[in-house]
Amino acid sequence: MIHEKINTLFVSSSGGTDEKRSIPPFNRTQHPQSNKLHEKNSINQSPFLVKLQHHLSGRQLLAEEIPFPIEEIQQHIKAGFIEAVSGITYTDNHYRCHRCGNEEQRLLCQYPCYHCQKQCTYCRKCIIMGKITECKKLYRWIGPPPRFRYEHALQWEGTLSPSQAKASEKIVSAIHERSELLVWAVCGAGKTEMLFAGLNEALRLGKRTAIATPRTDVVLELFPRIKQIFPEVPVTALYGGSQDRNTFSPITITTTHQLIRFHEAFDVMIIDEVDAFPYSAEAILQFAAEKARKPNSTLIFLTATPSAEWQKECTNGKRNHIILPARFHRHPLPIPRFIWTGNWRKAFSKNKIPIPIRNWFIHRLEIGKQAFIFFPHIELMEQALPLFQQYDGKIMAVHAEDPDRKEKVQAMRTGEIPILLTTTILERGVTIPNIDVAVVGAEDDTFTESALVQISGRVGRNPKYPTGDIAFFHQGKTKAMVRARNQLLRMNTAAKKQGLIY
Ligand SMILES: [Zn+2]
Ligand SMILES: [Zn+2]
Repeated sequence: MIHEKINTLFVSSSGGTDEKRSIPPFNRTQHPQSNKLHEKNSINQSPFLVKLQHHLSGRQLLAEEIPFPIEEIQQHIKAGFIEAVSGITYTDNHYRCHRCGNEEQRLLCQYPCYHCQKQCTYCRKCIIMGKITECKKLYRWIGPPPRFRYEHALQWEGTLSPSQAKASEKIVSAIHERSELLVWAVCGAGKTEMLFAGLNEALRLGKRTAIATPRTDVVLELFPRIKQIFPEVPVTALYGGSQDRNTFSPITITTTHQLIRFHEAFDVMIIDEVDAFPYSAEAILQFAAEKARKPNSTLIFLTATPSAEWQKECTNGKRNHIILPARFHRHPLPIPRFIWTGNWRKAFSKNKIPIPIRNWFIHRLEIGKQAFIFFPHIELMEQALPLFQQYDGKIMAVHAEDPDRKEKVQAMRTGEIPILLTTTILERGVTIPNIDVAVVGAEDDTFTESALVQISGRVGRNPKYPTGDIAFFHQGKTKAMVRARNQLLRMNTAAKKQGLIY
């Protein structure tokens, strides 16, 4: 394949103003005061510092987040390349944070400020990103954006399944039309591959893309894959503690939290696992995602488990969407079984494993098949763990705050752990080739419809092992359980009808 890269403009990680690059066409008459800057950068004939442009374009940052002298920033403001807006404003007896959108007055607090030497207001809601105060400015790049264009960037030899291909087409049209699209794809549909054509199209059109996800794990997993298929394109990964924040790149893979530092940056915004904690829970992140994309941009949501409200909108034709009812390996989704377990809480409190659960996991130990057993709460799980370990000392338990979480998941992958007890922390993301799952107390509030669909989605993902058992142990069926099972059944029926599964 010939790679035809035209008019590419970017600074590499070692980038500097002396690098070879083309300069964007720029009408300098609009900026009569830019002469001084122009002189300063006469080597590359740019009226502004390209490094600064790349650092700030599409972002809104505090001075301390911009590694340039404040005089330099001031000169660019004078020349009309940067605007400074107040971080926090006060109008009509009302404070507002312009970085995170917070207007909750109890989270906008007064303190004796070191900078302005006065009582000053700061935002507690986004303090994790660095303190923003009434006396501080947010700087935005309003000059010309860096330009790029890649004709043939995609280096991928794989093929798409029929349902992936359909979704891929729909994504490409959403990018052309700058529309909003929900991609409702079952767990194991292979959603990453569906994005390739769309990302390629965005690169061809010079559109800047963000893939945002609530989970750092997903950023870390996606980053090398995207880099690999677009070897010539600078790709940035952003998450709490990541390096590489200062570069401009056509593709940014980021946690939804990091979007807070962006402002009208992206032509294409792809939000993965829109329903996952914490995106769905926190208005601040929705504000950030909205603010980070350009007006009139493409917005694509990817999820296996849209909210009940969105599902309804899809059914009523009120939401542009595409449903992928089939997994890429073209086998049907395994369907959960409901197993009544009586008062399982009481059994555990008497240090007994309820009989149906005991039979289920002993059978797995006997046939040597791995399993996840989901518990609604940590306390209960930790109380139950020794009971399970009486049968096999290698059975382990994991939860969100577990310092050995990564090691335990790895030991599960290598087969060292036969059965892993877990909270809903492992409901997504982790893929073990040949596994069964059980849910203890499936009627608990923790197990929402979406959690139960995700948990069921752990089973049968590998083409070599496309089936498996999903057991919901309960003391009374809930709506969530029934809805989750119906959702999976409906997907199988649709996939069968469309000839997408065997
Ligand atoms: Zn804030
Ligand atoms: Zn202050």
